[in-house]
Amino acid sequence: MLPREIIYLSLSYSITAILIYIGLLSILVKSAKIELKDKFYNEKIAEYKQQKKSLTLEQEKLNIQVTGISLLYETTRDISKTLDEAEALTLLKIKLKQFVEFDDCFLLNSEERDKFEEVIFYHLPLVIEGKVFAYLAIKNLNIKGLTLDHLYIIVNQFALILKKIRLYNQLQELAITDGLTHVFSRRYLMERFTEEYNRSLKFDHKLSFLMLDIDHFKDCNDKFGHLVGDIVLANVADEIKKNIRQVDFVGRFGGEEFAVVLPETDKPGAELSAERIRVAIKNRMIKAYDEEISVTMSIGIATYPDDTDKPDKIIDRADWSLYRAKQTGRDRVCTYGVYK
Ligand code: GH3
Ligand code: MG
Ligand code: MG
Repeated sequence: MLPREIIYLSLSYSITAILIYIGLLSILVKSAKIELKDKFYNEKIAEYKQQKKSLTLEQEKLNIQVTGISLLYETTRDISKTLDEAEALTLLKIKLKQFVEFDDCFLLNSEERDKFEEVIFYHLPLVIEGKVFAYLAIKNLNIKGLTLDHLYIIVNQFALILKKIRLYNQLQELAITDGLTHVFSRRYLMERFTEEYNRSLKFDHKLSFLMLDIDHFKDCNDKFGHLVGDIVLANVADEIKKNIRQVDFVGRFGGEEFAVVLPETDKPGAELSAERIRVAIKNRMIKAYDEEISVTMSIGIATYPDDTDKPDKIIDRADWSLYRAKQTGRDRVCTYGVYK
């Protein structure tokens, strides 16, 4: 071979080798680039996944908060309608039953608490201004849809409502007249009753006591609402006042229960008076907002000294007669001694 041909041949080999080398190099660069891109995308995907996870967590937290707020709202709206402790507890039970399972639920004070074993009874403290004033004992509690946080939200709200009810009742006890019906408060009625009883004892007079209770008043509240119920109560009190003598006096004994004290009045006189009140109430058309309502009352009578000579027994016996009036059909007057 000529030296020139050798040179050409080696040149062409070198060029081919260089071309192969360049080709390999570019393949390597490309695959490195793809790897880098993959790494970049994988990192991004991981980042987005992390973000999604924390957003989901955030959303769950917000959902819990929203449920908490609506629970709080509903609990307050429903339970704060009443000023009766037993009724507030019943409403709380109904509310809780929507979310948790339990056998029973009741209120305890600190001393009573030890009697109920904490394994069976879940004790939730009711706290106001950092002080525990009662416990809510829940028997065989089984939390299903509700978290403990939510349970505490409801219970704290209930604590506020209960405190309000207790304060209201304390105020009522201190007052001479009842704020809603403007008749005597129970406490003042009892003071005046004791005075009248002592007078009857001293002068050997008869004394009659009427216990009056509106029939099916719960239905009236359920049908027309508590505000209308309040107007009905005020009208009933007004009608009672209109139908008693000046020496008689009326007080609000409890929620929709009134008591009338009739000094120097025997059984027949008390029956006449009670019957007059019953008929007057039944005939009164009560206008409350857009509603026209009429209610009936059951009345129980007891008389001193015919039925008893003890003042507290007079009230018990009037109450017993009222119970008889309810049992025998309502919208009637029952006298102690006639139904024993
Ligand atoms: P009964 O004929 O047996 O007496 O039936 P009732 O529905 O009248 O008796 P119950 O004791 O079951 O209900 C009394 C109701 O009185 C329940 C309570 O919501 C209502 N109540 C008590 N105090 C007030 C009040 O101040 N305002 C209103 N609107 N309702 C009251
Ligand atoms: Mg009633
Ligand atoms: Mg009643």
